[in-house]
Amino acid sequence: MRRSGRRDLQNFTAFLIGKKGYDRRTAHNKLAVVAQFLKTNDILRLLKKSDWPSYVEREPEVYEPEQLDKLLAACDLRNRVLFEFFLMTGMRDAEVRHTCWSDISSRQFARVKSKPEWHFTPKNWEEREVPIPDKLMQSLREYRSWVGAGSRLLFPATVGQPDRHFLRTLKRIAWTAGLNCQSCNTNKGRCRQGPFCEHWFLHKFRANWVAYSSNDSGIWQTYVVPFPIPDAGARYQISTDGGQQPRWRHDGRELFFLSPDKKLMAVSVENMGSTPQFGAPKVLFQTRAHGPLTAEEFFTYDVSADGQRFLINENAADNPIPADIILNWAD
Ligand SMILES: [Zn+2]
Repeated sequence: MRRSGRRDLQNFTAFLIGKKGYDRRTAHNKLAVVAQFLKTNDILRLLKKSDWPSYVEREPEVYEPEQLDKLLAACDLRNRVLFEFFLMTGMRDAEVRHTCWSDISSRQFARVKSKPEWHFTPKNWEEREVPIPDKLMQSLREYRSWVGAGSRLLFPATVGQPDRHFLRTLKRIAWTAGLNCQSCNTNKGRCRQGPFCEHWFLHKFRANWVAYSSNDSGIWQTYVVPFPIPDAGARYQISTDGGQQPRWRHDGRELFFLSPDKKLMAVSVENMGSTPQFGAPKVLFQTRAHGPLTAEEFFTYDVSADGQRFLINENAADNPIPADIILNWAD
């Protein structure tokens, strides 16, 4: 067996995610199998902790729309567009930091690609294209005409180099806008006294998504849009032959809905952090779920956190078990 190096395993990870289209958790599990195999052959500790594909189990923390409005209102043009960019592209700190004007296509996407001159490589070698919603494209045009053509980077530091202090900028603006939570106490200081609130961090901008149904196309279909900016332009149609009552598995990696003929359908969800990918709808099973009986009754089923069990409000079977009713039994 050829000696495997760390780079081989990193390439393997990039292959699993980039070429095979596995989600991060699956890639993590497959990498673990290889690591276990190498370990039994006494090849240990090839990988650093950061080489393992990371994934989020719990629901991510999100900013409330009012918080974002206040934050953006307290920004100058550059920082407003900077945080809109984070919010609407779902890119990571280092990816935003190294984005150049030449990476922005007039066809409304941003390329995430390596910049060897700044020693930047996208995480997991995941070069990709991220759609830019209309609203963000407008902001970028406004910002471009304001900064002029001088800089290669979108959001450079004052000397034209990549800006390593987006987080510091965010915390400073949150502090001046009165948005600190007033109660956290970090090793840099108390958030009541300065720009230290730990509830403001860049990762939290990465897009969250809302599923809903609409009949604006003529039939009820299920869609997913980014939240909290539902007007950002990106809308993904999840159902193909109609769908209502969408529900997420707790970890957001699967979405369920009811087809028009009451089949419970499932769609796999991947890569929600940047450019989401939805699998083709699959039939799980036929239900006898009744339609909503009142305007307040949005759902006639629910799903367990792991997506394995369903509770369904069904119509009774056609041949119900007969029941004898005894009248005047107390006589
Ligand atoms: Zn705080």
